[in-house]
Amino acid sequence: MNSGKSGRNDGWAVETTAVHAGEHVDPATRASSPNLVMSVTFAPTELTGFSARDEKDYEGFVYARVGSPTVRQLEEKLAALEGAEAALCYASGIGAVHALIAGRLSQGDHLLMADTNYVAAAELARDTLPRFGIETSFVDTSHAEEVAAAIRPNTRMLWLETPANPTMRLCDIALLSKLAHAKGVRDVVVDSTFASPIGTNPIALGADFVVHSLTKYIGGHGDAMGGAVIGRKRDLDALNLEASVHFGGVLSPFNAWLILRGAATLPLRMRAHEELALAVARHLEAHPAVKRVFYPGLASHPQHALAKQQMRNFSGMMTFQTHEPGVEAARRMVKELEVIHYAVLAWPSPEPGLLDFHR
Ligand code: PLP
Repeated sequence: MNSGKSGRNDGWAVETTAVHAGEHVDPATRASSPNLVMSVTFAPTELTGFSARDEKDYEGFVYARVGSPTVRQLEEKLAALEGAEAALCYASGIGAVHALIAGRLSQGDHLLMADTNYVAAAELARDTLPRFGIETSFVDTSHAEEVAAAIRPNTRMLWLETPANPTMRLCDIALLSKLAHAKGVRDVVVDSTFASPIGTNPIALGADFVVHSLTKYIGGHGDAMGGAVIGRKRDLDALNLEASVHFGGVLSPFNAWLILRGAATLPLRMRAHEELALAVARHLEAHPAVKRVFYPGLASHPQHALAKQQMRNFSGMMTFQTHEPGVEAARRMVKELEVIHYAVLAWPSPEPGLLDFHR
């Protein structure tokens, strides 16, 4: 039963953490499962206001943009799943990406970003951040020496994504975190959406922040968007005042409640994803029309050794290339799909060399 413990996992098995962490017995109703609290305002026990300055010194709930009980329960569960001190939730994965970048970087700072990562994060960095005086450069993070060479005196943040969407390229979180910190980079961030907290815990490997699109594995049912930034309490308290109070892209309690339901089964679902993905990857690898399959759990993945070192679960995502190149072949293939369906085209014409990460 719920013990009323804090969000820390306290040596619990991950299955126990996924179900119980953050889920305190509600002192008012004694409800043991998460209550959906939709209230926007709360009745503070002390006089307080809506500004970030007012919120700083008050521990209870005041206004749902600053914090609310159902969202807080999810934040505690996510922090526990990542073995971190704290988490903050936003309305989408990209909401979390933006909150972290805009909340931590200032004019004149340099952001060093992996050259393969989720497209909207890359576009935010390339197209939007320059308007605010933040420069981004992109680097192949599967090569540590290239990362080291790309770090500048004003590099404040290194942005990693592993496995990367859509190529399934990995990077060595422990190695790059050590290297970046030694060169004066303040924040190492890992978008760990594809790995999920069941596969990898980047903070234990030396990263400062983890980002998740909760819309994917953690929510797990395709019916709720959400995002999270996970890290040290001191950093996230400061981020909350700026990114939540001033930017406002916070998660709805209803979505938090849906995602809490999903998160409880995350370890079981990830086990099933891995088992089935491996079977699909092996089937594709043996298929005469398929040229290459990129799945971290396959021995043929160019970074399989790193995958085994860094991932406890290889997840369900994979990429494959057919012998016949081009969009037409892709179009024909998706028309033949019977059970799963086509979602989006990752890029209209594949950039040459995108999948050549096994140099
Ligand atoms: N990060 C990764 C790796 C993703 O795959 C996605 C979405 O596909 C995002 C971030 C953005 O998340 P959302 O769609 O919840 O904004």
